[in-house]
Amino acid sequence: MRISFDLDDTLICYHAGAKHEPSRVRWWLRPWVYEPLRLGAADLLRELVKDHEIWVYTTSYRDPRTVSWWLWCYGTRVGRVINQDHHERAFGRRGPSKSPGRFGIHLHVDDSWGVWAENRFDRNVCVVLPDDPDWADKVRAAVACVGRNAPPPLPPDVPEEYRSRGWA
Ligand SMILES: [Mg+2]
Repeated sequence: MRISFDLDDTLICYHAGAKHEPSRVRWWLRPWVYEPLRLGAADLLRELVKDHEIWVYTTSYRDPRTVSWWLWCYGTRVGRVINQDHHERAFGRRGPSKSPGRFGIHLHVDDSWGVWAENRFDRNVCVVLPDDPDWADKVRAAVACVGRNAPPPLPPDVPEEYRSRGWA
C-alpha cells in the first residue's frame, strides 16, 4: 500500500506543548535538516515502511531531498516527496489542494478536514489532529481498514458543518 503523510501539523508540530522525538539528525546535517519530528512518528513510520511505501505530500515548498534526509535520520526511507511545486506541475493551481488518489496513494494522513472533504468520495484520507496523543494508533487503525478495502474510520470530531451536509 502507498501511504502519504502531510508535514505541517501532522509530522511537524510547532504548537505550544507539542511533543517531539529526540533529534536523530547527524550534527553535520543539522544546518539543513533541523525540524522536529512529532512524538510517535519514528516508531510508526519505521513500522509502516516494512510493508508499505511511505510518501510525503505537503502543500509547503520544502525541498524534497531535505525532507527525505530528515526522515532517513529516523530510519525511514521515503518513496517520494510531493511538495506544492510538484502538485501544481501535475494539476495546476485550481482544484483540490491535495489529490492523493491521482498519485496512486491509498491512504493519506493529514490534520486538515478540508483535505478530507476534498477527497471524501475517494475515502482515502485519515485525519489526525495535532494535539491528539493517540494519533499514531489512529493511523495504524486506518492502515488496517484500508488494507482490507474499508474506508479509514471517521474520527468522532467531524465538524458539524460537514455532518450537516451529509458528508459523514
Ligand atoms: Mg497540515
